[in-house]
Amino acid sequence: MIWGLKEALMGKRRVRLPRSRVKIRANYCCEYCKSQENLSSSPFSIDHIIPLAKNGSNDLDNLALACPGCNNHKFTHTEALDPVSGEIVPLFHPRQQEWAQHFKWSSDYSTMIGLTPTGRVTIIRLKLNRDYLVNLRKALFLTGQQPPF
Ligand SMILES: [Zn+2]
Repeated sequence: MIWGLKEALMGKRRVRLPRSRVKIRANYCCEYCKSQENLSSSPFSIDHIIPLAKNGSNDLDNLALACPGCNNHKFTHTEALDPVSGEIVPLFHPRQQEWAQHFKWSSDYSTMIGLTPTGRVTIIRLKLNRDYLVNLRKALFLTGQQPPF
């Protein structure tokens, strides 16, 4: 089938996302777990912070660079239950919030610590302290590559 014909027949338009602009803006790091794309075995994805399924847009203000793990765990979630307060709390929004206001590194830079309810639920929902990430961060720390900047 001719490229685009299926979308045209179904009334959908294929949208080209501004991948390069998103990657440069994110300094080639996952905007959630801060993994570095050049040290990853898989290419990073363009995340819709508010998913298209929840009427999010393709605008730059709704796009973030995400590693495959964060992108998969986030899926279409935009909020999660905070175990401390028992409240449903929005996930971290990389365009509207500052990472350092919601997260910090442990003293050895291997583990992310949530500073706010949003930080806590984002760590839980996206599994930002996945075993292999913690191990990778420890190894990168020994070579001076963790934290990324
Ligand atoms: Zn990530």
